[in-house]
Amino acid sequence: MTERVESTTTPDEFVRFWAAGEAGKGDFRCAECSYGVTVHKALPVCPMCSGRSWEQTPWSPFRRASRAH
Ligand SMILES: [Zn+2]
Repeated sequence: MTERVESTTTPDEFVRFWAAGEAGKGDFRCAECSYGVTVHKALPVCPMCSGRSWEQTPWSPFRRASRAH
């Protein structure tokens, strides 16, 4: 009998911080040192500064254009 709390208070443009251990997918950047990681499952602890806050980066401008030519 737990009430469901939906977070509808997060507009898209608001920068949401993610904590280490949270499930996530995509590109994230450490809130402390800006180290970038690609997450497939859960957010790690930053290997650079041991930070635990992450910021999701919009689909990177540095998209890997691996053109098989
Ligand atoms: Zn860091």
